[in-house]
Amino acid sequence: MVHIKNIYKSFGNLEVLKGVSLLIKRGEIVTIVGESGAGKSTLLQIIGTLDKPTSPEKNHSLIEIDSLPIIQLKDKELSLFRNKNIGFIFQFHQLLPEFTAIENVMLPGMIGGKTRNELYKKAEDLLKYLNLSHRLEHKPGELSGGEQQRVAVARALMNDPKIILADEPSGNLDSKNAEDLHRLFYQLREEFNQTFIIVTHNIHLAEMADRRMEMKDGKIVS
Ligand code: ADP
Ligand code: MG
Repeated sequence: MVHIKNIYKSFGNLEVLKGVSLLIKRGEIVTIVGESGAGKSTLLQIIGTLDKPTSPEKNHSLIEIDSLPIIQLKDKELSLFRNKNIGFIFQFHQLLPEFTAIENVMLPGMIGGKTRNELYKKAEDLLKYLNLSHRLEHKPGELSGGEQQRVAVARALMNDPKIILADEPSGNLDSKNAEDLHRLFYQLREEFNQTFIIVTHNIHLAEMADRRMEMKDGKIVS
C-alpha cells in the first residue's frame, strides 16, 4: 500500500529526513515512535502528499501509494488523489469551529460530485457508527475532547480512504478516551481493511501495532 525509498527532506540547511525507506502492506497498522524532532511528522506529511521530498530525482526517491508513483503527479492530480485515498487525523483535531459536527464530516466529500443529501447521509452514518448520532448539529466547542476526536475520525473516513495517517491522535486525550480511540482503529481495520500509519507517544498503542518503527535523527533506526 505504501512503498517509499530514499526520501530526503531539508528545510533550508536543516536536513530532517536522511534517506527513509519503508514498505507497508494493505491492512497493516504501523506505529512510528521517536523523540521530538526526529522527523516523524515530516515523514507523515510526505506520505500524505501534503509535502514533497527534496531533490527526488537526484536521490532516486520513490513514493508509491497503492502502486501509483505519486512523485510524478501534478499538484491538481495530487490533491484529487489525496482527497480520495488518504484520511488524516491530527493531535488537535482541526475541526472548523463555525461548522457543526456533521458539516465538518461532510467537507472532504464536497469535491467528489455527490449531492448534499448523499453527503449528509454518509456523514450521518459515519457519526452514528462512531456513537455520535446525538451530536450531529453540535459545534466542536460544544463537544468533549473525545467526541471532537471521533468527529475528526469520521471526517477522515468520509471518502473511504485506503490509508489513514494519524499524527499523535490520542496525544490530547485522557487515557480512557485514548484507549477507545485505539480500539476504534482496530475495529475500522477489521471492518474496512484500512491501512494505518500512526505517529504516537502512547506506549500501549505502539505495542498493539502489527509493526512499530522507531525514528531517530531523520532515519528509521529500528
Ligand atoms: P517530529 O514530528 O518527530 O517531532 P518534525 O517532523 O515535526 O519532528 O520536525 C523535524 C525537524 O524539522 C524539527 O527540527 C522541526 O523544527 C523541523 N521542521 C519541521 N517542519 C518544518 C518547516 N516547515 N520549516 C522548517 N523546519 C521544520
Ligand atoms: Mg510531530
